Amino acid sequence: MSIMYRSTRGEGGEYTASRAILQGLAADGGLFVPTSYPKLDKSLTELAAMDYQGVAYEVMKLFFSDFTEEELRGCIERAYDAKFDNAEIAPLVYADNAYYMELFHGATIAFKDMALSILPHLLTTSARKNNSKDEIVILTATSGDTGKAALAGFADVPGTRIIVFYPKNGVSRVQELQMVTQKGDNTTVIGVTGNFDDCQTGVKMMFGDKALREDMSKVGMTFSSANSINIGRLVPQVAYYVFAYTRLLAEERIKAGDEVNFVVPTGNFGNILACYYAKKLGLPVAKMICASNENKVLYDFFKSGTYDRRREFILTNSPSMDILISSNLERLIYHSTGNDAAKNAELMKKLSAEGAYTITEDMKAELADFVAGFASEKDTAEEIHELYDRTGYIIDTHTSVASHVYRKYRVESGDETPTVIVSTASPFKFARSVMSAVNGVTDTRDDFEIIDELSVKANVAEPPAIGEIRTAPIRHNTVCATEDMQKEVRKILGITEA
Ligand SMILES: *Cc1c(COP(=O)(O)O)cnc(C)c1O
Repeated sequence: MSIMYRSTRGEGGEYTASRAILQGLAADGGLFVPTSYPKLDKSLTELAAMDYQGVAYEVMKLFFSDFTEEELRGCIERAYDAKFDNAEIAPLVYADNAYYMELFHGATIAFKDMALSILPHLLTTSARKNNSKDEIVILTATSGDTGKAALAGFADVPGTRIIVFYPKNGVSRVQELQMVTQKGDNTTVIGVTGNFDDCQTGVKMMFGDKALREDMSKVGMTFSSANSINIGRLVPQVAYYVFAYTRLLAEERIKAGDEVNFVVPTGNFGNILACYYAKKLGLPVAKMICASNENKVLYDFFKSGTYDRRREFILTNSPSMDILISSNLERLIYHSTGNDAAKNAELMKKLSAEGAYTITEDMKAELADFVAGFASEKDTAEEIHELYDRTGYIIDTHTSVASHVYRKYRVESGDETPTVIVSTASPFKFARSVMSAVNGVTDTRDDFEIIDELSVKANVAEPPAIGEIRTAPIRHNTVCATEDMQKEVRKILGITEA
């Protein structure tokens, strides 16, 4: 069966998967969604006999139906290889009546590696399939994590270049070291003397700059984005939900057909939406538990049916979930209208004009399998501390939000369904917050001293990603003012002002 894509806002007709990947966002500002749901065509028992790469192929082939087997397997092999520090890619750890699915064994020790390690290969393959010969130039503004994951994914991928802007004084020391030591002849990292919003505005302006695009086109280059709304990032995430289920089956923790809950620490709604697509594929998923930090706009939405971003933005110790506009929620809203693009477009217009919208009772019914919860900063620290006391297992702050929400849900609902908690970052990545929680005192030591103690207490070797930045030479030391961002890009790409 061939799966096509269309915009959640209705314009532009139908796209093949490879065209949707290349374009990223639809021309009307909507997101690409499949026009029908594929179904798993192998049994869960057959999938249980496969490794990660095998399961990933069986899932992705259903969504990327215009890719040949050779093309897709090639992308998967190049993505999920020795860059991961665990041969299982996404291992499950059992602790205190739940399974933690560790999605942090990739190059940057956080879950965005799961998608960003394959996106460059999907993009270059899509370009080839659509006879586009241009070199792909990725521009990204980052508040720390996404930029590094994108750099690691695109480094030395033929036919691509990547330029990342970060706020010079707005990221942690570990984050900065991770970026400025990035290897790869096609990578550039630039510190901006401004905040994250300045970086993002600068990048958006370049994407919209016609003269710049034309000058690039003349020398055979075209911009693309590694943004989390690209279906080339979403679909690879569906794979690990199916994989987790098949591991439980292979280990005889469940029988084929038994239902499983998933708890997902949520920000932009990409990760949990992938779980919804996994359920649509036929995976026996019971509840999808959406866990928020103090920026609980999604919790309020699922409770009330009103999405309202008109609120204060709170900085938390789970920064990758500090988000007030969860872009990928638009896909769920669209599906919950019964795929009514006009209705969805109307709600999205309301969101941008008024900052809020309310869904109907019918739409709510489509969302019945979602449960929402949130964790305060205090809950998050206590959960890390208590889980460590009970089991010796140390989780990061984002995972802790999910873990707290699950423990509370389980007590309140009495639901004993086997449950997988999605673990989105290594505790080593957020070592200061994590060890402050474990020890119950705010830690002010040097980052690397804290990491040493974490390694001893968790009885886990420091991941190679941390070891590398202790000694790696600094390769990128350009700093520029916000207004000079385009000048830097032109310099790097070798295109002069017209
Ligand atoms: C990005 C991120 C999240 C949130 O994922 P979404 O797909 O945006 O919901 C959670 N945890 C970590 C560590 C992340 O980097």
